[in-house]
Amino acid sequence: MNAIINFTKALKSAKEILRFHGGVKPPERKSESTQLPIGQLPLPEKLTLPLRQHIGNIPKIKVAIGDLVLKGQLIAEAEGIVSAAIHAPTSGVISAIEDAVIPHPSGLPDRCITIKPDGQDIWTSLKPQKWRNTDRKALVNNIRLSGVVGLGGATFPTHIKLRANGKSDVHTLVVNAAECEPYITCDDMLMRERSEQIIEGVELAQYLLGANTIVIGIEDNKPEAVAAMQAATVDKNIQIKVIPTLYPSGDARRLVHLVLGQEIPYDKRSTEVGIQVFNVATVLALYRYFEFGEPSINRIVSMTGNVTSPQNFEVLFGTPIAHLVKAAGGAKAETSHYLMGGPMMGFQLPSEDVPITKAANCIIAASPTLFEAPPPAMPCIRCARCADACPVSLQPQELYWFTKSDNFEKARDYNLFDCIECGACSYVCPSDIPLVQYYRYGKSEIIAADKAKETADIARERNDFRLARIEREKQERAEKHAARAQGVKTNSAKASKETADQEPNKEDRGRNTKQAAITAAIARAKAQKTATTAESAAPLNTKASSESVKTEIAEIDARRASAKSKATKADSKSGINQEKQDKINAAIASAKAKKAAADTAKKNVGNK
Ligand code: SF4
Ligand code: SF4
Repeated sequence: MNAIINFTKALKSAKEILRFHGGVKPPERKSESTQLPIGQLPLPEKLTLPLRQHIGNIPKIKVAIGDLVLKGQLIAEAEGIVSAAIHAPTSGVISAIEDAVIPHPSGLPDRCITIKPDGQDIWTSLKPQKWRNTDRKALVNNIRLSGVVGLGGATFPTHIKLRANGKSDVHTLVVNAAECEPYITCDDMLMRERSEQIIEGVELAQYLLGANTIVIGIEDNKPEAVAAMQAATVDKNIQIKVIPTLYPSGDARRLVHLVLGQEIPYDKRSTEVGIQVFNVATVLALYRYFEFGEPSINRIVSMTGNVTSPQNFEVLFGTPIAHLVKAAGGAKAETSHYLMGGPMMGFQLPSEDVPITKAANCIIAASPTLFEAPPPAMPCIRCARCADACPVSLQPQELYWFTKSDNFEKARDYNLFDCIECGACSYVCPSDIPLVQYYRYGKSEIIAADKAKETADIARERNDFRLARIEREKQERAEKHAARAQGVKTNSAKASKETADQEPNKEDRGRNTKQAAITAAIARAKAQKTATTAESAAPLNTKASSESVKTEIAEIDARRASAKSKATKADSKSGINQEKQDKINAAIASAKAKKAAADTAKKNVGNK
């Protein structure tokens, strides 16, 4: 009874809520999956964990194939500032690290770690932390190890959102429990069943941010959740604001506008105006990490649509969608495909083998009855209904024309990037134009062009630096050559100067000649003096000298006599030789005469 009274009060206060521009009211289809409490799943045969489950860098793998891991063990650690860790959702063995198809609109494969559960589900040693009266910075640094990301669908690493507090003063914490998209009920069921823990998480987030105001925004189509949350906040300084059901009130900026009446400027983040927004499931994950030491290994997922028994389940990350479908009683006939997310912002899954990730808040089994195939798009009739529905007050029809004609710069000028891709414009378009697809196409083209330009700019800059370096080196070389040449000149000049300094000039040369003459004269005088001295000293050795002279003379005479005798002998020898020569000469003359006589006789015979 009290809960009904409280909810009525809350509804009254909802009339004071400041509404945002636009918005739509599609059929809710939420009640199907709220009939049963949150269910638990048996362990699947395998858990496939994509490394890319959050915004930012993919984490670094810390295990190898064949490794045994325990539940909650770190298997990939956050790499860089914007990144999130991944933990083993159960105990088992690492059976593969390979590319596998992941839940992404592209349908492309990406790196995944696969665990084969051992069925024991044994936890690693957990480290709960007392957070009250503990240094906030240390706590925030610890959250990096938790793997907690925004579980509302944004998947932005939570430690970054808390760290931002160091740069600006956050005075208000807004807890997003709007859950505005049709079919999705995971936050609703979480609030119904775990409101006490959620409020603990809200207080923890408030402590980490240093905020003094807490507001929780819940749509008025969740009376049970509102009641549970109000019961959990009795005597607490926490406001529960019930907001009208209007899509997309769960968008952070729309929610801030609704619950605080404050518009965040389009070019600013909410933290820049002192407001931080956390999803209700995210604060619960934070609480469990500090209170029990449990890292982020599971989440609540709505399994709904064309299945036998739609329900919310607590699902381990990596669980194949097919396992979840089976737990919900299996897909009914006519199921054509599966959507991840809601019908407004969700996307079609490439297969039912893809795993549940941190972003997966809802899986819808689609059928032609539930989701009629869109009729062919008709030309835009400029009715402007899309502009009326746009919560960001854009001109969707203009954006459509610009992106359709590839006039992307014009689309950018018309604030294409402020579009939150909520699909409200497409929902109301009477011509059934898939407007959001055009915007996604336009954004991706602009991002690609910007990246290409950035790459070209970097390449150009590098080339400019290279040319400047070459020119600088050239100049330095030229300067070195010039300096060296200058050095050679200076040295030769110095050397010449030194030589010149060493060579005597004309005057010196004259002076030197004179000096030489003087020196020679002195030497001569000294020699004469020495001779004189010798002569004067001679009488002392006269006898010895005359004796030696006599001996010398005798030796010379003997040598002369010997030489004379040799010459005589030689003369006698040469006389014998002359005699022989004379005889030879006579023989030659006789031979010549004979030859001449013979030649004459021959001549005479010839004449006859
Ligand atoms: S709602 Fe559709 S038809 Fe109407 S202006 Fe917008 S795009 Fe054109
Ligand atoms: S999808 Fe974009 S343009 Fe369309 S209504 Fe939403 S915000 Fe506006």
